[in-house]
Amino acid sequence: MENKIKIVFATGNAHKLQEINDISKDSGIEFILPPEGFDPIEDGTTFEQNSYIKAKEAARLSKTLSLADDSGLCVEALNGEPGIYSARYAPTPQERIDKLLSKLTESGNRRAKFVCAMTLVDESGNILTQQTGECHGEIAKKQSGTNGFGYDPVFLVDGFGITMADMSEAQKNKISHRSNALRKIITYLQDNLK
Ligand code: IMP
Repeated sequence: MENKIKIVFATGNAHKLQEINDISKDSGIEFILPPEGFDPIEDGTTFEQNSYIKAKEAARLSKTLSLADDSGLCVEALNGEPGIYSARYAPTPQERIDKLLSKLTESGNRRAKFVCAMTLVDESGNILTQQTGECHGEIAKKQSGTNGFGYDPVFLVDGFGITMADMSEAQKNKISHRSNALRKIITYLQDNLK
């Protein structure tokens, strides 16, 4: 059996870990959860800063190479809102979607993008590389689809004409902001960890 390189992925979310391992399944790298007690204070003002805070905390606890992401939805007509506050925009996922839809007018600009910043740190918390990935589209007028999470039901992906929640996981993993950022990190690891 292949001996995979193990890297901590700084999340408490097992679904996200599964998604990351699906995307990287042929890379020779396996991502694992951080040790118990991982609970960083995400008080940065950018996706990059928050991903660094999470990666540094995972490395402090695990004393190994650690990767973290931070992501969110940026809507043009709302000056980039909800951005780094995407997870906290309203109390529940449905309320977050309702709030977003209520802020956009019928005929106005509905352009938006998902952004994901990733930071890879060494066992001492020093930054090895930071990468970002984006996925562009529009906010739908009404929600559709049951796959995925968060704002997926109202995000119409450019070139597909369906929402992210109408895509299969495999389809989403080919084009998502997270997979775009992760592929750059994997290239870095493959070039530098030999
Ligand atoms: P975090 O990167 O786990 O902090 O995610 C921030 C928030 O951004 C999530 O709770 C979602 O509301 C939103 N978000 C990030 N990525 C996605 C995605 O792929 N689909 C839908 N919503 C997302």
